[in-house]
Amino acid sequence: MKKKHKIIIARILISFLLTAAALLLPIKDSYIALLAVLSIPYFVIGYDVLWSALRNIFHGQIFDENFLMAIATVGAFAIGEYYEAVGVMIFYQTGELFQSLAVGKSRRSIAELMDIRPDSATVLRDGGEITLSPEEVSVGEVILVRPGERIPLDGEIIEGATSLDLSALTGESLPADKGVGEAVVSGSVNLSGLIKIRVNTTFGDSTVSRILDLVENSATKKSKAENFITRFARYYTPCVVFGAMALALIPPLLFGAEWIEWIERALIFLMVSCPCALVISVPLSFFGGIGGASRMGVLIKGANYLEMLSKIDTVVFDKTGTLTRGSFEVVDIHSERVSKEELLEIAAYAESFSNHPIARSIVRAYPHEIKKERIGKISEYAGMGLCATVDGKEIYVGNRSLMNSIGLDISLGESHGGTVHIGTSGEYLGHIEISDSIKPSSKRAIKELREGGIEKTVMLTGDSRRVAERIGNELNIDDIYPELLPEDKVTIVEKLIANGNKVAFVGDGINDAPVLARADVGISMGGVGSDAAIEASDIVLMDDDPSKISRAIKLSKKTMRIVRQNIIFALGVKGIILILGALGYANMWVAVFGDVGVAVIAIFNAMRSLKSN
Ligand code: ADP
Ligand code: MG
Repeated sequence: MKKKHKIIIARILISFLLTAAALLLPIKDSYIALLAVLSIPYFVIGYDVLWSALRNIFHGQIFDENFLMAIATVGAFAIGEYYEAVGVMIFYQTGELFQSLAVGKSRRSIAELMDIRPDSATVLRDGGEITLSPEEVSVGEVILVRPGERIPLDGEIIEGATSLDLSALTGESLPADKGVGEAVVSGSVNLSGLIKIRVNTTFGDSTVSRILDLVENSATKKSKAENFITRFARYYTPCVVFGAMALALIPPLLFGAEWIEWIERALIFLMVSCPCALVISVPLSFFGGIGGASRMGVLIKGANYLEMLSKIDTVVFDKTGTLTRGSFEVVDIHSERVSKEELLEIAAYAESFSNHPIARSIVRAYPHEIKKERIGKISEYAGMGLCATVDGKEIYVGNRSLMNSIGLDISLGESHGGTVHIGTSGEYLGHIEISDSIKPSSKRAIKELREGGIEKTVMLTGDSRRVAERIGNELNIDDIYPELLPEDKVTIVEKLIANGNKVAFVGDGINDAPVLARADVGISMGGVGSDAAIEASDIVLMDDDPSKISRAIKLSKKTMRIVRQNIIFALGVKGIILILGALGYANMWVAVFGDVGVAVIAIFNAMRSLKSN
């Protein structure tokens, strides 16, 4: 426990004992004696509140909580309620203590969740090892990571093999095996072997820095609920304070009522006039929800997106790389005019600069090294394929529409998987058959979405109708739209939104950034490693598992439920106390519960949003 908390506990105990002692003294009938004796515990417990109230008057902040508490308790002294004044201040400070402990605890648990920042990097320089902070390491240097250490920078293994714990990044608890030539990401933990890594990004651009930036910036994007509370607080406090003034002045002045009684009712108003239960607990709920989501590998870029996620009724998926693995196998090669080997070579060269999953699979299937100097100009046709100059010749690689656009009429039936056609201007060279497989978790993902109350699932793809329908039917997707260009995908999402649906689009960031941006919530997959996806989306799934979406929606609904509970509870209790207070049925004890008691309960409730299930 912090020193400041120990001090306040001591002050609470001392003032409590002093007040109890005062009860034993024979001073009940002397106002002067009561005032003198009870001022002591009052100052012990309340001097800091009084002091900040005094300071705030000079800053014009008269609706500040300290100021309101000070007026209320000094007022209580003035009307002879000495024990109440001290007791209320003790209660108030106790509440503040709990509040501070609870907020501190949830901050710490969120910080622990995000504890992926590496402290240092062991760099091999001039034949020796030196330990530097990760910021000081440059691209191309080699670092050494021992078992048990956190990987400080993104890079590629050049020596050794190990298994990595990625759970802090993706929520995936199974370790991943990595060997020479494979990419590793910062923030993961080296579990077993000693490895050497060649660094390929600076720390500022590394996965860890990007994740931390994202989570830190998420606080600036406020939800509607938070904006409502801010606006509400701006009117609530002044209204209640003016209500208190009216209550203290009007009945005694106009109707000759008892001053003391109406001032006491007014003081009750002042005590419940602080909206702190809401101002603290609502943002804390969102903060907790975002923290809980990141624990399961879902990064949410702002409270507004978490709020929107809870309202989604339609989930639209991109097919390739989202529902399917996006890791194609070359299953067959049909060449015309050239040999099979030549066709694969031409295709691999043409595709070598593209990061489309089809392109990467074709390059992977080509057994030799690619000599970049043989490749010239490249133009991509999003959703269709590309054209690249290989050995001075323009090579087109892509789907049937691309071939049609260069005047090649492909009459051949689409195969069971997918077909990539290769042609030059005026000459068809053949096609490569590739197959993609459905991700094992996709079926469950769709089922869980439906069970979680999503009304409609939709699949969009640039792929052929045959392939699209086979996959869509296997997964039980409601609506399937095949043979789309990236702009058609935007049109479909816009139409769904225009029909009043709340649409989430899930994609991999390749060819679909405009759709990610247009949807009510853009969700991208495979955040570890893909910049385009992180940039364009509102929510990033750190791994490729589509079943995370329904879990994230569930968490968002839970968070919103907590927010609503807190708003209703806090306003309800305060409203009741205001009414009872005005009618003369509430006392100061009830009022101070309406202030700090409600805040403490709301904060503890808010902390539940941290738990991801
Ligand atoms: P999806 O909508 O399924 O994510 P894309 O919009 O990325 O697919 O691509 C649509 C279609 O365009 C693919 O099915 C493929 O036929 C063709 N295509 C796109 N890019 C390439 C490429 N680099 N090489 C070959 N074919 C491609
Ligand atoms: Mg795609």
